[in-house]
Amino acid sequence: LVVLSDVQKYFGELHVLQDINLSVAHGEVVVVIGPSGSGKSTLCRAINRLEPIDSGVITLDGQPLPAEGKALARLRADVGMVFQAFNLFAHKTVLQNVMLGPMKAKNVKKSEAEADAMRLLERVGVANQAQKLPAQLSGGQQQRVAIARALAMKPKVMLFDEPTSALDPEMINEVLDVMTDLAKEGMTMVVVTHEMGFARKAAHRVVFMDDGRIVEEAEPEEFFSRPKSDRAKDFLSKIL
Ligand code: ATP
Ligand code: MG
Repeated sequence: LVVLSDVQKYFGELHVLQDINLSVAHGEVVVVIGPSGSGKSTLCRAINRLEPIDSGVITLDGQPLPAEGKALARLRADVGMVFQAFNLFAHKTVLQNVMLGPMKAKNVKKSEAEADAMRLLERVGVANQAQKLPAQLSGGQQQRVAIARALAMKPKVMLFDEPTSALDPEMINEVLDVMTDLAKEGMTMVVVTHEMGFARKAAHRVVFMDDGRIVEEAEPEEFFSRPKSDRAKDFLSKIL
């Protein structure tokens, strides 16, 4: 579904993505881990073209990512993204946050958008918060709204960039549970996270990045019990 071929990306002198080759199949859950600054967020941002790449090709459904215009807007709908910071519209209610994207980008009728939004809020367990403003919700609730908002666009793939790292410990699991359900339902997902429990339980594949490169790729069981590279061993010894 998503294929990155020989992707290179520089920030000035810094070679932040180096020779990245990665493909994510339909329904596959790929967890990306690696030290701070290794390029995980840049990789995610490249997949929905929040960051342009310098060379190589990224395709979604066989089509190279569009650079602009309507096609780019469609890409952003097809590639849902959930960030560390919840990024909800502060002055809109929870319900409006989830409804607006489909109405604006896909011309969905208001009544339909609302019904769809309520269904999604139900699914992530915050339907009873629909009329509140984001600031009136806990961090875990806000993040679940952010997931519902991305899902409202009916994306082909969901990207999660450390979705739980800004949350208090007791709220982490409620977000991971929603993500685990999504994974079970067959959503294609790329997840940057330090939550190794989630990686073990939900990932089909773990990708370990360091210094802008994919150093290692394996099934979770294999990766956690028999990491091959010294860098992965060193990283795991620090976080496990
Ligand atoms: P973290 O775990 O801390 O989130 P990361 O693996 O997500 O790290 P990136 O955010 O992708 O890492 O950053 C990779 C490198 O690129 C870092 O050295 C970072 O400082 C640099 N970088 C990121 N964004 C920019 C930017 N807009 N301009 C210049 N350098 C950047
Ligand atoms: Mg990051």
